[in-house]
Amino acid sequence: MNVGALGSSFGIDPSPRAPRVLSIDDSELMHRLLRARLQLEQVEIHCASGGEEGLKMAGEMQPDVILLDIELDGMDGFEVLQRLKENPRTHDIAVIFISATNDTMDRVRCLDLGAVDFVHKPFEIAELKARVRSAIRIQQLLRMLSQRAQLDGLTALWNRAYFDQRLMAEFGEARRHTRRMSLVLCDIDHFKTVNDRYGHPFGDEVLAHFSSILMGGRVSDIPCRYGGEEFGVILPNTSIAEATEVAERFRAAFEEHRWRRHPDLVLTASFGVADIGMLNINGKSADLVAHADGALYNAKRAGRNRVSSIATPMAA
Ligand code: GH3
Ligand code: MG
Ligand code: MG
Ligand code: MG
Repeated sequence: MNVGALGSSFGIDPSPRAPRVLSIDDSELMHRLLRARLQLEQVEIHCASGGEEGLKMAGEMQPDVILLDIELDGMDGFEVLQRLKENPRTHDIAVIFISATNDTMDRVRCLDLGAVDFVHKPFEIAELKARVRSAIRIQQLLRMLSQRAQLDGLTALWNRAYFDQRLMAEFGEARRHTRRMSLVLCDIDHFKTVNDRYGHPFGDEVLAHFSSILMGGRVSDIPCRYGGEEFGVILPNTSIAEATEVAERFRAAFEEHRWRRHPDLVLTASFGVADIGMLNINGKSADLVAHADGALYNAKRAGRNRVSSIATPMAA
C-alpha cells in the first residue's frame, strides 16, 4: 500500500508513517486473525478489546482507520461510533463496521452515524483488505484536501485560519513542556504605494518574494500569511534573542533584494517579535499576538525597516 507516493504528488506534507489501523473488538481471535493477515500489508495494527479502551487509544494514536465491532460487551459499537464522531480528535477517522448482523436497519444505522463501510462477519480476508485499503486512500485524500484549504493561494504559505489554530496548539505545547516559543509579525512598508506606483501584479510579485524569504528559515518555523501584506512566523523552541536574529535576517534579505523590473527600487519591511516568556502565567496565544503586534507598531513608529521586540500591546 504505497500511500507515500499518493501524498507526495500533492507536494504538501505527505504522511511519512505507515497507515494505522485500530481494531475494536472483544474477540481475541479476531485480533489474532487481523494481526496475522494484515501483517504483510505495511499497515500498523493495534487492538482494543472494549469501547472505552478503543476510544482512549483512538484519541492517543490517531489511527487512519478503525475496524469496529457492533457487538461489544458494555458500550456497543453504535455508541462507540457516536462518541468518536463527537470528539474533534477522532471525528475524522474512517470507521468500518464489522458485524455478524443480517439486519438491514443495523447497516443503515451504521452508515447514517458516519461509518464509511460495513463488512459482514464471517468475511473473506481479501475483501477486508480491499475495504481497508480503500478507506485509507480516502482518508489520505481528505487530509490533503483539508491541508490545501489551509494554504494561501498567492504565496503558498499557511493561511490565517491555519495560523490561528497552529499558534494555539504550539502555545499549548510550549506551556505544557515549559519550552520557549516566539512569534514574529511582519508588515511590508508603504506597500500601498508599491501597488499604486508599480501596479497590483508587481505588488503580488513582492508578496510572493517576501514569502519565499520567510520560507527559507528553519524547517521547524511556521511561516503564515496573516493578512494582505502582513505575515506571522511561529517559532517553536525559540528564545526572543534567537527570534530577533531570525527576523533581522529576513529584514536584511528583503532590503537587499534587487527587483528585475525596477532595479533602483528598495523595498523594506518592519518586524515585531514577542516570546512566551513575556506573558504572565494566565497569558493566552492571543496575548502573544498582541505583544508582537505592539512591537511591530513600535518598529513602524520608530521609522520602519527595523525589528522591535519592545512590546506595548495596547499602543494606540
Ligand atoms: P505601512 O508602512 O504603514 O505598513 O503602510 P502600508 O501602505 O504598507 O499599509 P496599508 O495597510 O495602508 O496598506 C496595505 C496594502 O496592501 C493595501 C492593500 O491594497 C494591499 N494588499 C493587500 N493584499 C494584497 C494582495 O494580495 N496583493 C496586492 N498587490 N496588494 C495587496
Ligand atoms: Mg463482538
Ligand atoms: Mg498592514
Ligand atoms: Mg504595510
